[in-house]
Amino acid sequence: MGNLISNTLDKICYRCNTIATNVEHVPAKCFFPKEHRKNLITVPSCEQHNNETSKDDEYVRGIIVAAKGNNETAKIHWKGMVRRTFLKRPKLFLTTYSKQRENSFFHDRRRMDSVMIKIAHALYFKEYGRHWLLNPYPFYENMFDDEGKSDIEVRLPDYNSIPPYHVFSGENPEIFKYYFLEGKVGSDIDCLLRMVFYGGFSVLMLPLGDNHRGDPLTTVFYLKKRQ
Ligand SMILES: [Zn+2]
Repeated sequence: MGNLISNTLDKICYRCNTIATNVEHVPAKCFFPKEHRKNLITVPSCEQHNNETSKDDEYVRGIIVAAKGNNETAKIHWKGMVRRTFLKRPKLFLTTYSKQRENSFFHDRRRMDSVMIKIAHALYFKEYGRHWLLNPYPFYENMFDDEGKSDIEVRLPDYNSIPPYHVFSGENPEIFKYYFLEGKVGSDIDCLLRMVFYGGFSVLMLPLGDNHRGDPLTTVFYLKKRQ
């Protein structure tokens, strides 16, 4: 029975302490066109945390893939698999693209956030082998408010202080890549996570307490050598 503990630890869910029974793709498979699925990232997951948000994944993919500044692969994915999903599920298309003003669409931030938070927890678990105990919260560079200011510009005014050069992880970087950066968030030491979809759509995940939500933040990040 000597190795029982380590066996068990290998198999706990990325999100809770339940024994994992499944494997969860991070991000969901639907983000990846068939010809860009080299060594997709997976984490162990329990029943509850596996595929529970697959409708949200498709909703969010439909938004991200159409974002300005993405690469050619995003356009090909949009014309192929994403379009086929919308043809099969016209209601999903209407939900995604019905709220429009001039040439902007309004999307469900809560759904978007929940998918990003799930991905962040899974990547942290993959990277550090433990649960991310603080709440990673998303800031978007490619989502804008009524005045045309980006979400991150409004809510995290000093985000430009984050050191610019990083090595990204991910074996299908034209679809998804990410890096963790250890540093200081307010007065706490933790890390941030940057994720880039389709070479353009960029999301910064910062761990925050609930009382920070919505307020502009002051952050200091520095590069720390990884062990
Ligand atoms: Zn779980």
